[in-house]
Amino acid sequence: MTKIAYIGVGSNLGNKINNCLEAVVRIDEISGCRVTAQSDFYRTQPVGVKGQDWYVNGVIVLSADISARDLLKGLLAIEVDMGRERKKKWDSRIIDLDILLFGEEVISEKGLQVPHPLMHLRRFVLAPMVSLAPDLVHPVLKKSMAELLVDSPEKEQSVVPMGGA
Ligand code: ATP
Ligand code: CA
Ligand code: CA
Repeated sequence: MTKIAYIGVGSNLGNKINNCLEAVVRIDEISGCRVTAQSDFYRTQPVGVKGQDWYVNGVIVLSADISARDLLKGLLAIEVDMGRERKKKWDSRIIDLDILLFGEEVISEKGLQVPHPLMHLRRFVLAPMVSLAPDLVHPVLKKSMAELLVDSPEKEQSVVPMGGA
């Protein structure tokens, strides 16, 4: 069955906006996936780490005829192809592609948790989510994206739309 998936896209190394745009093109090329919508990109403050460069973040909407597991494989392959190096947790990265939501599926497996376990706390995810689907309900927390954004802590989470992207 076709699922609607929401993918978080982020970059804080190199030409950040181009990296994000390239990732969108590549995601559309994953077999069984079609990009149906995308948010504006936002200039965002790094969360959870000190002294890193700011990020570009956005969210894309996919129509997916593959499983969440196969989608994750495709996303991780794109990260590798685009030159992402994995060093320490939350290190700066050329590209980061996270499955935020996959239909209403709730998955808790080794290496795959959906909904993304931190999405409801991250304004760099919630602001673009609200622009795309304010009334969409989080399948575990049972709150809409708009409610989650209002509830999320603003401290050190500046999120500014870049416009024109
Ligand atoms: P965070 O998860 O806090 O956003 P991160 O994106 O920096 O951190 P990564 O190093 O990119 O973390 O990913 C580590 C692993 O997380 C991936 O190899 C993948 O197996 C796993 N993972 C679990 N759930 C998801 C998900 N929903 N989307 C993407 N990766 C996931
Ligand atoms: Ca991430
Ligand atoms: Ca990731």
